[in-house]
Amino acid sequence: MTGKWPQKKGTIYLDAGNITRKKQAIDYAVSIIRRGGLVAFPTETVYGLGADALNPQAVLKIYKAKGRPADNPLIVHIARESELEQLVEEIPDDAYRLASKFWPGPLTLILKSTEKVPLETTAGLTTVAIRMPAHPLALELLEATKRPIAAPSANSSGRPSPTMAEHVLADLSGKVDAVIDGGSCRVGLESTVLDLTQKEPLILRPGAVTQEELAACLKKNVNQAVYQGDSPPPSPGMKYRHYAPRAPLFLVNGEKEDAVKAAIAALCQKFRRQGRKVALLVSAEHAPYHEADIIEILGSRDRPAELSRRLFMSLRLLDDTDAEVIIAEGYPEKGLGVALMNRLRKAAGENIICV
Ligand code: AMP
Ligand code: MG
Repeated sequence: MTGKWPQKKGTIYLDAGNITRKKQAIDYAVSIIRRGGLVAFPTETVYGLGADALNPQAVLKIYKAKGRPADNPLIVHIARESELEQLVEEIPDDAYRLASKFWPGPLTLILKSTEKVPLETTAGLTTVAIRMPAHPLALELLEATKRPIAAPSANSSGRPSPTMAEHVLADLSGKVDAVIDGGSCRVGLESTVLDLTQKEPLILRPGAVTQEELAACLKKNVNQAVYQGDSPPPSPGMKYRHYAPRAPLFLVNGEKEDAVKAAIAALCQKFRRQGRKVALLVSAEHAPYHEADIIEILGSRDRPAELSRRLFMSLRLLDDTDAEVIIAEGYPEKGLGVALMNRLRKAAGENIICV
């Protein structure tokens, strides 16, 4: 069977873009997951690294392949709302309301888990993260496997999340059994994570489903979790600095666009005078004003969906250059801009300049 598919360092490449072989690709991926192996697959957010969520040994392989800290729980993916019953202890009305509005889609719900969910999947927590992805290949895989699939982003821990199959192969070839190539991810940022086990719904990670949309659907207050290094964090994932590019990234942020532009130009000049190779990660509108060794254009400031879709790919492209420092433009923190800036802040770590 494996002889029929191309491989990279032992990871089988399943090209689902080839219509005549799509069913074969899914069938093959199903057989791997059912026997406790790992398959990376596309979702509308980013590529996921999937294993049978109810098989502890299979789930442990995910942590090993990614180098993921053992205390960072996984998101369980389902194809039907009815699967919630075996995974969740009490399903609140809010969960049904949100599921009917946003599933399939980029919203993950934290709910009280049943004993059926292995502690390996929840990293020892009594709650479980669940999502129904809006990607036809992900849904087909879930339907055909007939079990929930645990899947964090299919990158090595600490690298930008993968939005193309080639990103998965760059990080994980030889460490996972197969990757299904379904092209580029439409959203490009990971799902919104919403905790429904608190007194009031709490956003643990902003994503494409916004705070305003959640509050409008639930007709109640929805909070955004903050974590300033105090312990313990509201969600284990919050204490890890993801998405760090190889070169230090300086994020320049401010309400006045001209001030941001001027600050980026000044910083760029300063680094270049120090003899450092500078890369800029800027919008199409700002790019013409700058001079730098490398300029990566994220997209138009008017189209946050485009900026979001391209962010992780751009960070990876910059990693492949010889840039010694990256300067990135900030964006307004409203709507999808909240999630975009959350990822840029994580990439910047301490290096945030407010003007
Ligand atoms: P990833 O799968 O790489 O997109 O990361 C999943 C995110 O969801 C991480 O930030 C986790 O910490 C968070 N998460 C998963 N399960 C839980 C849970 N039960 N409680 C709180 N956060 C969770
Ligand atoms: Mg991740």
